[in-house]
Parts: sequence; C-alpha cells; structure tokens
Amino acid sequence: MRAGRPPEDVTLVAVTKNFPASYVTAAVASGLTNVGESKAQELAAKRIELPELDVRWHFIGRLQRNKVRSVLEHADVVQSVDRVALARAIAKAARESDRFNPSRRLQIMLQVDLDPSPPNVDKDSTSARGGVHPDQLLELAAEVAACDVLELTGVMSIAPLGYDPADCFRRLARLREQLREVYPTATEISAGMSGDFAVAIENQATLVRVGTALFGSRELPF
Ligand SMILES: *Cc1c(COP(=O)(O)O)cnc(C)c1O
Repeated sequence: MRAGRPPEDVTLVAVTKNFPASYVTAAVASGLTNVGESKAQELAAKRIELPELDVRWHFIGRLQRNKVRSVLEHADVVQSVDRVALARAIAKAARESDRFNPSRRLQIMLQVDLDPSPPNVDKDSTSARGGVHPDQLLELAAEVAACDVLELTGVMSIAPLGYDPADCFRRLARLREQLREVYPTATEISAGMSGDFAVAIENQATLVRVGTALFGSRELPF
C-alpha cells in the first residue's frame, strides 16, 4: 500500500445510508463486516429488515438524546458521541438495555471537531458542526469511561471543508495519542470518507467510512 501499512490495520466501514437494505446484504456478501448508518430510523429499519445478518453496525450521525434508545437497540458501535449530556444519556440507556453488560459493552468513539475556525458552541460545548472541541475531549472521555457497560475505543472526525485533510488527520492522531495515554482501550481513529480515505490511511486512520466510492452517488433513484 502507498501508506506502507498492512491492509489488516484498517477496517472499512461501508456507509449504506440512503441506500436500501439490499446494499447491506451485497456489502456483506462481498466480505465486508462493518456497516455505517447516520440516521436512527434508517438504522432501525435496516436492522429489522436484516435480522440475521452478521455485521457490526456503526452509528455515525448526529445523535439526539430522544433517539438514543432506538440507536442502542441496533448499533454495536456509536462513533459520534460529542457531548457530555449525550454520553450520559447513552450510559443510562446502555445500563438499562439487555443488549449490553460489562462483558459485552457498547463501543463508543468520541467525535472531535477539527475545524480551527471559532465554533458556534452550544451549552453542551458541542460545535453546531458536530464534534467536541479538542480541549474538552478528556472531560468527555471520563464520562464514557465511568460507565461499565461502555467501552471507549477511540476518536472519530470528519475533515472540515476548506482545510488540508492531512493536517486535520495528523491532529486527530495526536489527540488519539493523548487519549490513549489515559484510556488504553482508545486505540481507534475513524477518519476518511470517499474523498479523503487515502490521506486518512496515510495518517494513522484505523477505520475509514466509505459510501459513495463503494456504492456510487446517492442521488440515483431506486
Ligand atoms: C455519509 C458519511 C460518510 C460517507 O461519505 P462518502 O463521501 O459517501 O464516502 C462518512 N462519514 C459520515 C459521518 C457520513 O455521514
């Protein structure tokens, strides 16, 4: 590989949002084992349509607290935890859920806002763009780590438009380093989409989230 990394270092998450469930089946038939969805309702609909499918479902979208229970019924990984209030709601719901327990924990990744322009921050210290400010990452991590049915597995980000993605992903890798010093389970870096996954892999990504480059444009009518 161009980045000089073995293929097994990087997990491909097939982003099937806006595609019918048959695309998930096709992805799995071709050997993919991780699928990403960004809307609670769509995740639930596909999971219900494909109950027997052996894949790990990643939730990668903005998550409102009133959708937490639905997402936890269906997701194995939530990549987009970006504020303390959301982490608390997930912790509470995960404890009450019979899908998770201390030996089968819900995997959590912290979504970081890498846009260096001044954030439009709400009272939860989340950028309107999505993602926790890097300065608040450790505080958010502590909230997740305090819950015995959650496992903090790493960081996630979307490279902001108008900035060099390589620079963004390098910063994300440094943040993962700082996080891992405190929480050794936080090994993953979810970075890179169709337009920038190669740059992300060159900069230590361990998961890439790819939709368009696998399935084509979502504008097509079905
Ligand atoms: C849609 C989406 C992707 C995939 O984007 P593509 O450009 O289609 O590869 C990745 N991550 C998130 C958070 C998304 O919402």
